[in-house]
Amino acid sequence: MTATLIDGTALSKTLRADVASRAAALTARGHQPGLAVVLVGDNPASEVYVRNKVKACDDNGFHSSYDRYPSTMSEADLLARIDELNRDPKIYGILVQLPLPSHIDSHKVIEAIAPEKDVDGFHVANAGALMTGKPLFRPCTPYGIMKMFDAYGISLKGANAVVIGRSNIVGKPMALLLLDAGATVTICHSKTRDIGAHTREADVVVVATGIRNILTADMVKPGAVVIDVGMNRLPDGKLCGDVDFDDVAEVAGWITPVPGGVGPMTITMLMSNTLKSAKRANGFDR
Ligand code: NAP
Repeated sequence: MTATLIDGTALSKTLRADVASRAAALTARGHQPGLAVVLVGDNPASEVYVRNKVKACDDNGFHSSYDRYPSTMSEADLLARIDELNRDPKIYGILVQLPLPSHIDSHKVIEAIAPEKDVDGFHVANAGALMTGKPLFRPCTPYGIMKMFDAYGISLKGANAVVIGRSNIVGKPMALLLLDAGATVTICHSKTRDIGAHTREADVVVVATGIRNILTADMVKPGAVVIDVGMNRLPDGKLCGDVDFDDVAEVAGWITPVPGGVGPMTITMLMSNTLKSAKRANGFDR
């Protein structure tokens, strides 16, 4: 492998230690940061994500609440629970794990979260503010990726960046953050005619599709930075990303692994956003 590995596990450890010490200082002043996690249904992948988030709270001195509801929960009951959490003074961040069962309108649910507790950054107020450059919270996955660029000294000014995927939670906010950092950004998606024609010109490629091996070595410019957001389960139960890792690592300059890349950074930024929210709510945000 010729590429430098961008180690999300190691970087997360450093950042979480800093978050934990700042959370302890705030707790000592009587304001423990608290996160509410809400899971509806029994999607096994969601259960794992939610458990990891609650564990991260425990490990870093945060208060947490974990609500698990059956997939038959009504939309009205979920909205009522969010209303309670919006008013709970011990809760500074609310995370509703997506996807929700199909009878529940996830847009309605996200919009019900108070924007100042929307630590995922998905509420239209925060998504809109991201467009103008001043969100209360940046969505955790793209925000974590920006921290990786920072930590590894990867300059984005003037870089050609390609994002594959245009979801509201990863692709679109990623493109906006890259644009804000001075990159020239192209977004590819399922209707893009020739993705390789774009990625071969790219200094930075962020892949977020959920399709294994969508990015192969022949699509990558030598020395490029390759960030793999994808999380796919192999038949043997192992996790892999969207990038053909072994071959791409022979061409790229930097690459993130799966697991151990973007995943741990996402949870770290959730902690960081919740701490930020607790500080802001108690007047310690300067
Ligand atoms: P999503 O909402 O399903 O969006 C997938 C995107 O990929 C869509 O924009 C889709 O294009 C695009 N796409 C699908 N097929 C394509 C193709 N053949 N060529 C090019 N683009 C294609 O998924 P998501 O929520 O953004 O998540 C993407 C992946 O990242 C998933 O594997 C997810 O598990 C993972 N993820 C990881 C983390 C983490 O912390 N590591 C966090 C979030 C998500 P259209 O819009 O045209 O349909």
